[in-house]
Amino acid sequence: MLIVFGATVFDTITTPTRTVREMLGGSCTYAAIAASNFTDTGLISVVGSDFPVRYRRVLSSFVDLSGLTVLEGKTFRYAAKYDATMSARETLSTELNVAQKYSPTVPEGYRGSRFVYLANNNPSQNMSVLEEFGSTKLSMCDTINFWIQRDRHAVIRMVKATDAVVINDEEARLLTKEENLVRCAKKMSGWGAEIVTIKKGEHGALTFYDDVVFPTPGYPLDRVVDPTGAGDCFAGGMMGYLASVNSTRKSHIRRAIAYGNVMGSFAVEGYGTAAIQKIQKSEIARRLRTYEKMIRV
Ligand code: AMP
Repeated sequence: MLIVFGATVFDTITTPTRTVREMLGGSCTYAAIAASNFTDTGLISVVGSDFPVRYRRVLSSFVDLSGLTVLEGKTFRYAAKYDATMSARETLSTELNVAQKYSPTVPEGYRGSRFVYLANNNPSQNMSVLEEFGSTKLSMCDTINFWIQRDRHAVIRMVKATDAVVINDEEARLLTKEENLVRCAKKMSGWGAEIVTIKKGEHGALTFYDDVVFPTPGYPLDRVVDPTGAGDCFAGGMMGYLASVNSTRKSHIRRAIAYGNVMGSFAVEGYGTAAIQKIQKSEIARRLRTYEKMIRV
């Protein structure tokens, strides 16, 4: 089983063509739905008393919700806007709401899970959740500018506490204070991350492990509707696959990265979680075959 901890959010997203308000979103929502295509997935998160039954139904059709806490108050809200290229995103607002007063706990039934993904979220909460798991086979974390700007040292402590980090290029530069991505990755490896994946949006990802650099392209698409959540789905696909094979072997890491790129490509094809809710396993397998042919030389 894979456990995903992170933020459950109402996202308001503006693209060059429209604004869609208060969609079901958040780092753990995307990651857990993506991961559920590979393995049983449990979610730990918090929502407010305004969280609608229809969103809970969506989540429960993919993942186990015994770790979802409801607190009196408003659910976390996030608003962002994309430019005409659909690759640059500006955050318009971040309202943590109930996430601020939340003390996460790990349900008893999750404690034996050996694969834990700490999605983009408050780094101190991420670390307290990780501490509740005994020994993990693989723990991985992500972050976002908001948390690096708030408490960079807490984010560094989180990277030190986990086995792997997945982070986008802009955030890797902000966190490490390096410009060159290879230097960024080396710095994070120096902090103890055995696997470092730097995501580059539509351009794919660079993964560093055991002195190996594994560059991968994004899955090419001719139509991008809403890129939000692509990075989370990348991580969900990667962790979901590794949990399904119960392995962190090099060959499995490479395949997991391929699955990550494939799952990210589904996320951008609709607003919010619309596209990833509809994925068929046969479609994942078909895209993976195309992707593997594409990267073979
Ligand atoms: P991505 O597009 O993969 O970078 O992820 C976007 C998701 O991250 C959105 O669904 C947001 O709700 C969520 N998000 C945005 N800001 C934060 C934050 N400060 N902490 C946790 N999650 C966030």
